[in-house]
Amino acid sequence: TTRLLDDVRLRLRDGRADFRFLTPTATMRDHLTNSLAREGLVVRTSAVNTLAGFMQESAPGIHIATPEDLRFLTARALHQLRPPALESLRTSPGLANAFSAAMDELASAGCDPGQWAALGSLRVWDGDLLAAFGTVYECVEEMLRAQGLTRRSGLLAEAALHIANEGVPGIRDVFIDGFFTFSPFELNLLEALARRTRLHVALPEWTGAREAVDRLRRAGLRLERLSPCRPQPASLFCPAANSAREAEEIALRILEGRGEGLAWRDFGIILRGREPYVPLLQTTLARFGIPCRSYFATPLLQHSATRCLAGLLDACLLGWEHDQTLTALSEPACRASSTRSFPAFLRAVREGLPGDGLDNLLRFAPPDLRPLLETLAAWPGADGVLRPPADWAAAMAGLIPLLHPPSPGEAETPRGPALRAFLECARKTAHLLGSEPVTLGHFHTEFAPLLQAAALRDLGRRRDAVHLLDAFEARQWELPVVFVCGLNEGAFPRRPAPDPILSGALRLRLRSQGVPVTLPSEREQEEKFVFQLAQSRATRAIHYTWPELNANGDPLLRSFALDLIPAPAAPARRIIVRPAAAVPPLPPASLDDHHIHDHLKEKFAVHRTTALESFLQCPFQFYLRSTAELQSEPDSPSGRLNPLFTGLVLHEALKNWHQGGGPMEQVFDSVWTRALARQRIPRGHAAEFQRSVLRRSLTQYARTPRHDPGWKTFVEQPFEIALTACRIRGRIDRYDLSETGQARVYDFKFSSDASLRVREKKQEDGLSLQGGLYLLALQHQGHSPVSFHYVGLKNEVSERGWDDPADVEAMMEGARVAAETAAFRILQGDIRVDPQNRDACQWCEFADACRVQTIEAAEIAEAAG
Ligand code: SF4
Repeated sequence: TTRLLDDVRLRLRDGRADFRFLTPTATMRDHLTNSLAREGLVVRTSAVNTLAGFMQESAPGIHIATPEDLRFLTARALHQLRPPALESLRTSPGLANAFSAAMDELASAGCDPGQWAALGSLRVWDGDLLAAFGTVYECVEEMLRAQGLTRRSGLLAEAALHIANEGVPGIRDVFIDGFFTFSPFELNLLEALARRTRLHVALPEWTGAREAVDRLRRAGLRLERLSPCRPQPASLFCPAANSAREAEEIALRILEGRGEGLAWRDFGIILRGREPYVPLLQTTLARFGIPCRSYFATPLLQHSATRCLAGLLDACLLGWEHDQTLTALSEPACRASSTRSFPAFLRAVREGLPGDGLDNLLRFAPPDLRPLLETLAAWPGADGVLRPPADWAAAMAGLIPLLHPPSPGEAETPRGPALRAFLECARKTAHLLGSEPVTLGHFHTEFAPLLQAAALRDLGRRRDAVHLLDAFEARQWELPVVFVCGLNEGAFPRRPAPDPILSGALRLRLRSQGVPVTLPSEREQEEKFVFQLAQSRATRAIHYTWPELNANGDPLLRSFALDLIPAPAAPARRIIVRPAAAVPPLPPASLDDHHIHDHLKEKFAVHRTTALESFLQCPFQFYLRSTAELQSEPDSPSGRLNPLFTGLVLHEALKNWHQGGGPMEQVFDSVWTRALARQRIPRGHAAEFQRSVLRRSLTQYARTPRHDPGWKTFVEQPFEIALTACRIRGRIDRYDLSETGQARVYDFKFSSDASLRVREKKQEDGLSLQGGLYLLALQHQGHSPVSFHYVGLKNEVSERGWDDPADVEAMMEGARVAAETAAFRILQGDIRVDPQNRDACQWCEFADACRVQTIEAAEIAEAAG
């Protein structure tokens, strides 16, 4: 690269236009153009180009099929042919992708459908799957011809022919750089260029390029071996506990380098793929105030505007199913989501789920939302008639008024390009479908895969930013400091996935017949070579980073490729974020006003047991739940199948069985059916699973219900007791009374034995009041409480409890004191964020409101000094 660029610089300084510098990708082309421009050289746009751009110049009028076109046509061919051998796989989304990739590889190796069939008759391949593949391949080639499209290999062949016949007028030198190796069609083009121009090709020295070098030498090119002229960078290994820490360590090291005088653009982070690191690095670097530019394309459906439009389309096809429609309308890019009344509308519709139809939705709509919903009602997609595909494509633009108009200063956001790409996908779908009228559903079947596959490149124009680079793209870059990240075994260098169509053995047989497909061993070599290239991009320092644990906390192996690199290790440091300025401590949170105290006295004259337990866990949780009475978003119909629902069914079934008797299965079935209908929960796999677990557990309980002779059983009995600071109301699941007035209390839980142990611990820590208050209530009624037991009813029947008289006494006294204290503190207006069990915060619905994570971070910072 250095040598070719020196030649190019000379030509640019002389103002010459008789050369072309060609790269494999547009990103590399842009990088090179910008680098030369930064050196003060004037670069004509045509002088530096991609090989594809140059081919289209050389063979004008030929339209190349994009990978999305090829996938689309493959899916269509599969749909039309419906090969019996593929019937069970036909709807699998990966089938069209796998077929499309295999066809493209065969086409690049010069094996067309005719040759594939001939290879079948030579028994190079056999079986129904590969025969079906051949039929689909032939059908796709016919469709390409009908659409006037060609594969890249076809364009290369046309361009080679054109250059061989006509030459390249006005061009003396062609420089080719950035490739690992060349396919047979690319080599044909280079041979044609070598005959008509002075051709200069830079190739890295590795086994995969040997064949290409030999052919180019035979075409008359002189071989010149160049030795590396870069200084050796310092290497460092940085293992981190997990990928979040890994990203933070990278950010920290960039800030340290910046402190030493480096510009942001002097840093590059090389990755093997977009996922999972690009989003993580982008947010981490932004958090540290580090500008960055990603050279990875972002999936089109990651933009809120396109997600909204695609979601509305799905909702329309589902008859404006309310949940789907709300999801689309809730997108930040949608005008509906920012109307004042949207939250109330959302709540009202969610409570009524399931539901469908725009008319039903309009009934809930407040005045500021009506016009938007009326726009949807007037949209042509809603009428369900057949239309030409071009009309459907044009109708997509009719949804755009539902989006926020771009605000001033929004020119930099990707909204405009994303919408253009969305409409382009619709236009392309219409083009591929032809003119025959179709339903919106049919149009959508073809449109959705195109949308899924579409991606947008980052249009950021920031010059001084840290670069996030793909390992393949990095081959033309040279940066002072490089981070190579995600270095886990199998991830980077990547372990090639098995090919479902062209297996390793089939590839060997194809190669022996002269079809130059890639062998698995060559893929592995290429992966190792990509890693070596990433290693060679730094001039000053290179950091190798990897996580040691995955998201589940399981250990990960570091890449074996690192074993060959001698480097010291500096494990990732723990980052503690301190505020830039001292923040004065907040006054203790309380509702310190006598009017409020009066109100609290009135409101909490009577407490529920569970509410007091909520206070003991955290005063702020009690305040939001019981004083401010905040409510969570209503659950979706399937979300209503939650622990609250199963608990209610369990208690109702037990009550009915104890009071009415009969077979437990019948009692449970009738309770379950009524509860499901009352909550409008859809029947499906999740509901059926829950039903069978509950039924089995209850049936087991009914077999051994523990009835002692002479004892009477009472279930779901309400109680009220008066304490000094308040009264407490509740309901006891079950208690048994002996003839002498002894009372045993049982509390039913839909829990396993392990969960009962957690409850036991909670009771011992004084955070549970139920047992003590139930016993106290029975004592107030004149009975003699002798025991309290939790009864777990999940898969098996388990019991945990207390029956020692001293324990029972301590439980009652402990519960009384804790309840009195809690009631007193509630009346004093105590609303501190003070969770007694931090682990329980993960199930608390107010975790985002109380900012407990900030408190934890501050505690860690304080402990660290
Ligand atoms: S998440 Fe924890 S700290 Fe926050 S309100 Fe809930 S219980 Fe309290």
